[in-house]
Amino acid sequence: MNAGASARGRDRPPPQTIVAAATPPGRGGIAIVRLSGPAVPAIAEVMLGAMPLPRRATRASFANLDDGIALFFPAPHSYTGEHVLELHGHGGPVIVEALIARAVSLGARRAQPGEFTQRAYLNGKIDLVQAEAVADLIDAASQAAATAALRSLQGEFSQRVRSLGEALAALRVQVEAAIDFSDEDLEALPDAALRRQLEAVAQQLGELRSVGVQGRLLTEGMTIVIAGAPNAGKSTLLNRLVGHEAAIVTPLPGTTRDVLRERMQIDGMPLQILDTAGLRAQAGDAIEAEGMRRAEIAMAQADRVLFVVDAAADPQARAYQDYAERLPAQVPVTLVFNKIDLCAGGTPVATPQPSAGLPSVALSARTGEGVETLREHLKSAAGFVQSGEGVISARARHLQALARCAGHLGSVRALLENRSGRELIAEELRGASGALGEIIGTESPDELLGRIFASFCIGK
Ligand code: GDP
Repeated sequence: MNAGASARGRDRPPPQTIVAAATPPGRGGIAIVRLSGPAVPAIAEVMLGAMPLPRRATRASFANLDDGIALFFPAPHSYTGEHVLELHGHGGPVIVEALIARAVSLGARRAQPGEFTQRAYLNGKIDLVQAEAVADLIDAASQAAATAALRSLQGEFSQRVRSLGEALAALRVQVEAAIDFSDEDLEALPDAALRRQLEAVAQQLGELRSVGVQGRLLTEGMTIVIAGAPNAGKSTLLNRLVGHEAAIVTPLPGTTRDVLRERMQIDGMPLQILDTAGLRAQAGDAIEAEGMRRAEIAMAQADRVLFVVDAAADPQARAYQDYAERLPAQVPVTLVFNKIDLCAGGTPVATPQPSAGLPSVALSARTGEGVETLREHLKSAAGFVQSGEGVISARARHLQALARCAGHLGSVRALLENRSGRELIAEELRGASGALGEIIGTESPDELLGRIFASFCIGK
């Protein structure tokens, strides 16, 4: 059991028995209905006629509604830590609903999304990072993302957070001891030694943050918005990147009026790509104006904007210059010079003056030339390195907590430099530990837990 399990379960009312289909809705070879909670033995007695032996696949009639295999996992050796019963029956929606309704009539209630995993967390079977990894494994958009989620589920990420937490705690104990015994003759840890220890912890944190950045990219991917003047070739580029005809391409300007979303991956890094209505200084009509408004909303929420210009018709990227000040300031932009197949000798064009310093890629969405360079650029701009050993899944909230932890360590450094009191240093170290505690869930408010588990599917 993980530390903090008893604290998590504390002050909560005794759990009700919950029931849900553990397999997706629809027809299939087998469907699994799962129950968890204290009333499982009583419900099983009625539905199956007798309790199946623990962890033995047992053929049974399910309340004369179906005939299948029952599996019983007695508490605490189950996924949730409670009594769990799985009914593996025929995969038809009517049968599944009848079994769930029968369990409800016998005292169970329908489970909320993620409630089985939430119970596993509350009963200390897994920590919060592992619970999130369950959802990430189910939602993985690439094999690399799935492997990373599995590593987090098996506790690799949690272990690294814990060992950092232990290093921080050791540091704090020394600082606090110096406060508690300051009027005794105890040798306080000299500042230089404290600084050395602090730097060792900071380095460990730095490594964890860079692993976390990769993990977040694998888990949540990045959102790229393709923007630019009408007819620059935005839809053609989207189709080229995703490898199929997702967007309608015509020589008529203004074909894409709404935002089109597609998913793809580059070497395992999932990407969401949005094609938007063409941007012009002045919209022609109300529909175009609305399309541009939606494009601007999409750009403001993007991780990067690919601003496409027609390199043959607009080699100085005037379309970009005309529009630049309306682009969201905080979102990085890459200039894409498209249609280089129409440029003399396919030569990349000069980067226009006002956009100096802006990364740019020259390509032909029609022939595919240069598209590989764009893929590489997207990977390196995101800071994505080829997934390999030690990659774990992570989420934005983990990175935010690690950043907060780094902020507290920065304050400790400043306090040491100013020769400030140890009380203040101890306070910052407590803050740093608290930020780590939020990641694995030893110090997570209920509201955060609610948000995390609500994003799961029902039955998990
Ligand atoms: P959008 O309005 O920016 O989405 O532009 P489209 O993708 O609909 O393309 C507008 C026109 O430019 C179409 O006729 C495309 O076939 C053409 N086009 C797009 N990319 C290229 C390219 O790389 N080379 C050439 N020669 N034509 C292109």
